[in-house]
Amino acid sequence: MSQSRAILVTGGAGYIGAHCCKALSEAGYIPVCFDNLSTGHRGFVKWGPLVVGDVSDTQRVADAIATHEVAAVMHFAAFSQVGESVGDPQKYYVNNLGGTLSLLKAMLERGCTKLVFSSTGAVYGDAGRDPIAEGAAGAPVNPYGTSKWMIEQVLKDYRSAYRLNSFCLRYFNACGADPSGTIGEFRDPETHLIPRAMMALQGHVGDFAIFGDDFDTPDGTAIRDYIHVVDLAAAHLLALNALLEGSPGGSFNLGTGSGYSVRQVLTVVERETGLKMPLVTKARRAGDPPILVADPSAARGNLGFVPICSDIATIVKSAWAWHQSAHPKEQRV
Ligand code: UDP
Repeated sequence: MSQSRAILVTGGAGYIGAHCCKALSEAGYIPVCFDNLSTGHRGFVKWGPLVVGDVSDTQRVADAIATHEVAAVMHFAAFSQVGESVGDPQKYYVNNLGGTLSLLKAMLERGCTKLVFSSTGAVYGDAGRDPIAEGAAGAPVNPYGTSKWMIEQVLKDYRSAYRLNSFCLRYFNACGADPSGTIGEFRDPETHLIPRAMMALQGHVGDFAIFGDDFDTPDGTAIRDYIHVVDLAAAHLLALNALLEGSPGGSFNLGTGSGYSVRQVLTVVERETGLKMPLVTKARRAGDPPILVADPSAARGNLGFVPICSDIATIVKSAWAWHQSAHPKEQRV
């Protein structure tokens, strides 16, 4: 029996989801975007049909799976602001965990048993200075990370009880934009380093600052593992293909294994844009660990994942191209 090529992408109108829809389409799949458009952008849905709905609406998800003969699901729909999750944990547990339970119910009802789940490096919490391997998970330090960690536990149990196979992909710092310049990082409010730096250069952010220069790192600023969103999308494709070939799945880091400090990133931003950053320093942001770098070897060994466009200059160049491009306003709403 030939397998359907339709893949349900929850949160497909968001930053990472949209890049995955493009990658799916280029690989011959049909991405069916399922998004409530609360933070996603209608204009990012370009590679397949859009179903406007919320994953907490089990019936609507089940109907979408049946109507489009969905072969597998990629699940991105979630809230993802760490600071907000500390102040309003209920929002995160209800939406992220509750929404996922609803999605899984719909999948089981329709006999759809393959899932690629958008997890996060936040499942590790403050895991120390060495590159972090998958076994270190289970100590998240905020409700966002905890919600994703809880979902990973649920997926483990569903794998053994219901044979619902899943990959949990733990992203480190997703960044960059598709080279087409048609999709990229755009949130309101924006909290991430690279888009905020670009927005500061464009005059859209007036209070840009380095959050802490007193960390125990070579230049005093925090070190992160930055991975290009196009590489992330490629990893999702590898995971999907493995599931469709019968893999039971597992949990893997998506990072490069190399860390860059905030100052190093900003130096590259200045070099690639030819503009001077306003280099004000403020106090550390609550909960920011000094160093978070992935050990990426398991994803390489198990999925064959090798980042190819995650050098920091390529990331910054692509992000700057996106931020400079003159998009019609409706594309971003
Ligand atoms: N950061 C910063 N200024 C900003 C935004 C972020 O100095 O305007 C720092 C932040 O404190 C962290 C690093 O940049 O050390 C990466 O932060 P981001 O929010 O991009 O990702 P996170 O690692 O928190 O997921």
